[in-house]
Amino acid sequence: MTGLPDYHVHTFRCGHAGGSSRDFVHGAIARGLSEIAFTDHIPLYFLPEDARDPKLAMSEEDFDGYVREVEGLREEFRGQIAVRLGLEADYAEGHEEALARWLARAEWDLVLGSVHWVAGGWIDDPSRSPARFAREGADFLYDEYYRLLAKAARTGLFDVLAHFDLPKKHGHRPRSPRMAAQDAAIRATRESGAAVEISSAGLRKPVGEAYPELGLLTRIVAAGVPVTFSSDAHAPAEVGWGYERTLPLARAAGVVEFVTFEKRRKIARALPR
Ligand SMILES: [Zn+2]
Ligand SMILES: [Zn+2]
Repeated sequence: MTGLPDYHVHTFRCGHAGGSSRDFVHGAIARGLSEIAFTDHIPLYFLPEDARDPKLAMSEEDFDGYVREVEGLREEFRGQIAVRLGLEADYAEGHEEALARWLARAEWDLVLGSVHWVAGGWIDDPSRSPARFAREGADFLYDEYYRLLAKAARTGLFDVLAHFDLPKKHGHRPRSPRMAAQDAAIRATRESGAAVEISSAGLRKPVGEAYPELGLLTRIVAAGVPVTFSSDAHAPAEVGWGYERTLPLARAAGVVEFVTFEKRRKIARALPR
């Protein structure tokens, strides 16, 4: 997939990914990608310290080492592939100032905005989410998720919104399409100038569908929201994974260009043929 970036990649620090960070870069080069952005999970700043699961995100002590390692890889691979310093940053309602303080601690190329924490719990926890969807209702959880996603976009803290339709991850579907809630999130994204990732990760999950799916992606693109490409890789072999399916998906949705980021400046590029 020559010429596309992979803008969502996790290292061992997040507690649920493996492999050496250098091997992720080698994987990106082997697949002909133009860029790779490391985007480890921000420490779980919005939870009390004893509730921060080390299997979900890097610890606060790991933060500086993470930034230094990615900056080192950027130098090491200069001239071969662009290595970007990114972060997958949870949006948590009411904790915007703490988030802004975290984001001020490094000079990012791009910050992914993610909503995983919805109505007091993780929306995508494989062990707990089935019970949550049964108890709280899929329509409610989807609407609440998109409300938070819109709010996240409006903070202006994010360059790219990750896995736009995440609540579907384990196959839980709303009873009717959540068009109004989605449209509000799309509008907020458009107004914020943030891009949306076309992520192959959903293809590896029970839902078996990219984020966002074709209909939603088509509306996002029609609204004038820029897109970029990612795998949400948690192992070197997953870098650039599934692009042979997400590139045609992008074309089918009307995408003609994608964006890359350097020091949070957005650059538009033509979609490869
Ligand atoms: Zn995520
Ligand atoms: Zn991720």
